[in-house]
Amino acid sequence: MSRLLFQGIPGFSDLSDSLRLRSSTTTHDPRPTVPDSDTLREECGVVAIYGHPHAAREAYLGLYALQHRGQESAGIATADGQHLANIKGMGLVSEIFTDDVLLKLPGHLAIGHTRYSTTGDSALLNAQPIRVDSTKGLIAIAHNGNLVHLGNLRAALERDGAYFQTTSDSEIIVQLIAHSRADTLVDAIADSLSQVEGAFSIVMMTRDRIFAARDPRGFRPLSMGRMKNAQGHDAIVFASESCAFDLLRAEFIRDVLPGELVMVSQDGVTSRQFTSGLPQSSCVFEHVYFARPDSRIFGRWVQESRDQMGRQLARESGVPADVVVPVPDSGVTAALGYAEEAGLPFRMGLIRNHYVGRTFIEPEQRVRDFGVRLKLNPVHNLLAGKRVILIDDSIIRGTTSRKIVRMVRGAGATEVHLRISCPPTISPCFYGVDTPSKSELIAANHSVEGIRQFIEADSLAYLSLEGLLASVRDEHKTGYCTACYTGNYPTQWVDVEEILPAAATL
Ligand code: SF4
Repeated sequence: MSRLLFQGIPGFSDLSDSLRLRSSTTTHDPRPTVPDSDTLREECGVVAIYGHPHAAREAYLGLYALQHRGQESAGIATADGQHLANIKGMGLVSEIFTDDVLLKLPGHLAIGHTRYSTTGDSALLNAQPIRVDSTKGLIAIAHNGNLVHLGNLRAALERDGAYFQTTSDSEIIVQLIAHSRADTLVDAIADSLSQVEGAFSIVMMTRDRIFAARDPRGFRPLSMGRMKNAQGHDAIVFASESCAFDLLRAEFIRDVLPGELVMVSQDGVTSRQFTSGLPQSSCVFEHVYFARPDSRIFGRWVQESRDQMGRQLARESGVPADVVVPVPDSGVTAALGYAEEAGLPFRMGLIRNHYVGRTFIEPEQRVRDFGVRLKLNPVHNLLAGKRVILIDDSIIRGTTSRKIVRMVRGAGATEVHLRISCPPTISPCFYGVDTPSKSELIAANHSVEGIRQFIEADSLAYLSLEGLLASVRDEHKTGYCTACYTGNYPTQWVDVEEILPAAATL
């Protein structure tokens, strides 16, 4: 059984006191942690349920559908109008929330979180939801994104008597709420959210209310839906991606708007803007890589965006070839679009082993030395003697791409042309995606030709920025953040050390 942390569960000791002692010795580190492998890490997924007698089980299903957004830890908090219970643990949602564990979470309200650490320690201590007993009552919060420009906010709160349980930046929001001078809870939440900068799609819960909010720039997705409970009444659900609604048999209502705070209580659903006027900067990389293709985010199907990226890539950088092969899984939809646009056959020439995923996120990675061979295997009869166009969604340090190119060539391909369904990644993300610093990003320090030589491909091309933006354009005129491709950050603050270029050569 996974190691679990219980809070507010009768018969189980509440570990919050011991967590407080441990956290008092831990230093807050605002920098994103560096990924272990040559890929970008998912951030977090959140879900909330209001008005379902089995809210914990529904939250579990929602998190199950969002597992791709974080596999390090997961948690569910529930409330029944009186009590607020919280259980979180390290590992996958299905490993933590067995039937026995779910039975310890009664109530018709629930929020849930699945996490890959972006800020704070990678430990149970920082797993979410975070449950805080404040002057405004018990509050639980689950946060997707990363706050920036915290400055001395944390120190100021501590001087004001705040007692932080975690090193996570998410707790700052709860402490701001607890220390707000606003009269009502909803005013305190709005007041607190307007004080923090960065990316946050959050769900919060008290004993009898659910809140959902998105930062004013709308970096991360968050949608609202509706489902029928056992009595045939409406239950309201929020989730990072709409694919969670499908598993819950919920109907998509709409996105939570940038700068909007939605409250659900026994009086129904109410909404207010806590900030307005900032241009929208939704993360375009959600469309490129993070979100599932069966999700609708920022008002647009991810599948449609990736298909368009592939088609645009074929128009921009077509090359004579025999087959189009995706690097699975995230390259598949773009490769389908590319193949159709280029009039070339699409072949699954690389097969992914789905059962090694967890192994690769273990901190001590002995198996890492196996490299991509453990994750991917070539289908020799599809590749031998062929001129292959390989479609992938990013090149980070270049080492994984080189192994894949070698693998395809080793299976008998006569030519390997790598096509990337977004522009070169030249700058780190500070809004919830775990990227290495600029000095480690190959495209920040080398030309496309230099990268081609390093990865040993016959040719290499990226989708242009204009092509990417055209691929996600729609009637909503959504504004996108493209900072990891341009270095133009939508917020004022960046970590200067993270964006220094490397002096190294290939
Ligand atoms: S910097 Fe890149 S990954 Fe981060 S929010 Fe902007 S587009 Fe997304």
